[in-house]
Amino acid sequence: MDLVTPELLAKYEPVIGLEVHVQLATRTKIFCSCPTSFGAPPNTNVCPVCLGLPGALPVLSREAVELGVRAALALNCHVRAMSRFARKNYFYPDLPKGYQISQYDEPLAENGWVEIAGDGRHKRIGITRVHMEDDAGKSIHDGFRDSDRYSYVDLNRCGTPLIEIVSEPDLRSADEAYAYLTELKQTLQFAEVSTCDMEKGHLRCDANVSVRLRGAEKFGTKAEVKNVNSFRFVKQALEYEIARQVALLAGGGKVDQETRLFNPNTGETVGMRSKEHAHDYRYFPEPDLAPLRISESWLAAIRASMPELPAQKRARFIEGYGLRDYDAQVLTSTREVSEFYETVARVSGDPRTAANWVSTELMGLLNAEGKPVTESPVSAERLGELVGLIKSGAISNKLAKEIFPKMFSTGEAASVIIEREGLKQISDAGALEQIVDGVLAANPKQVEQYRGGKSTVLGFLVGQVMKASRGQANPQKVNELLKAKLG
Ligand code: ADP
Ligand code: ZN
Ligand code: MG
Repeated sequence: MDLVTPELLAKYEPVIGLEVHVQLATRTKIFCSCPTSFGAPPNTNVCPVCLGLPGALPVLSREAVELGVRAALALNCHVRAMSRFARKNYFYPDLPKGYQISQYDEPLAENGWVEIAGDGRHKRIGITRVHMEDDAGKSIHDGFRDSDRYSYVDLNRCGTPLIEIVSEPDLRSADEAYAYLTELKQTLQFAEVSTCDMEKGHLRCDANVSVRLRGAEKFGTKAEVKNVNSFRFVKQALEYEIARQVALLAGGGKVDQETRLFNPNTGETVGMRSKEHAHDYRYFPEPDLAPLRISESWLAAIRASMPELPAQKRARFIEGYGLRDYDAQVLTSTREVSEFYETVARVSGDPRTAANWVSTELMGLLNAEGKPVTESPVSAERLGELVGLIKSGAISNKLAKEIFPKMFSTGEAASVIIEREGLKQISDAGALEQIVDGVLAANPKQVEQYRGGKSTVLGFLVGQVMKASRGQANPQKVNELLKAKLG
């Protein structure tokens, strides 16, 4: 994609705001008791309410509201004491009611923020609003014998509870948009609002983007890129769109306010409909639902039930365990990973070494097998035990790295493998002395050099002792012993 030179691109500043739809992890739909289960045969999880049959009335799910409020709190929003549902009218075959029940000028929550790591520093991205709505069904355009003539409709998804999270236009690059989505996803997963399973469409994103000359105050005209179904695609779509707009403006043209679609096969966006053809949704208050009131006491109870969120966890890992920013990031990527890590840290008594082992050795083997941490053949307790053995000096780090893959493939405890293979670190002074004496006798030249003032030779001698002990000597003890012997 060479629409513009990097020099030209650098003259402009992208401005991005994201609208993210997230499926709430309820068992039933938002306005009826049909199951939300994925993969059921088409048109089986339906009832008069979600089919929009005349006379059927919606009843708001308390569980959905609770999850919506959890999301709002996790995103630092103000939850309104009263919000209102509204009908968003449009015609589409997968929308049997002829309108979506959403929220409009009185949304569930407003004025929040999410913190991302950008340009080495933390940056707050504003959340304009979080509102609740129901999902539409699915049109299926291919896969049938007569798909060249007909489309099919599966209404199972109709009425699935969603929240829409609208960000302020605070993002300034495709990378920041990626970081924001990652943070959002982790936060909602930790808060148990949604599984955010992208493959199942539990998190969908529309990206709004404009560009302006650096230093300019006014925002440029934005384009909206619809339904980009992976974070990588969002980044790609934004990069393409930024370059396209810069090329247009630099060439004396102007950006049209329009909706565009991303094509993952070409990496390009194409115009779908312009502002003139924009929908007029004719919003009006939903007459079948009373205003949603959230009492102080309910809000307080939900607030009290909120778990520690990734940002707080990262801060605690950095402060409390002395971890580096990067490790804290890796170890809070999912709640399961963070819990695994904390157990290893506790059992071993050495949080920093534990961090290394979990984020490199363990993750390395897990990733190679495509397994999540919940399926680790080595339990957190057993990894903690291994790290504890390093800390106590019972085994060297090098030896631990040989033992660990064996633990991983057999599921055995470190102590069992050490016992069977006779791998215990030699710390016993008598046994060590014997090896050290042997090495000194075999290397008279180096001994002389050391005594003559060339202290760097010590490293060589330590290495020889380690080698002679098949890596089992305690390196620190070897060091001490050699120094003593060499006078
Ligand atoms: P619309 O009226 O088209 O729905 P909104 O003002 O409601 O636009 O904003 C929708 C999304 O677009 C929000 O996420 C917002 O941050 C973002 N946005 C608004 N203006 C711009 C702009 N000039 N450039 C980039 N993003 C923008
Ligand atoms: Zn139903
Ligand atoms: Mg809008």
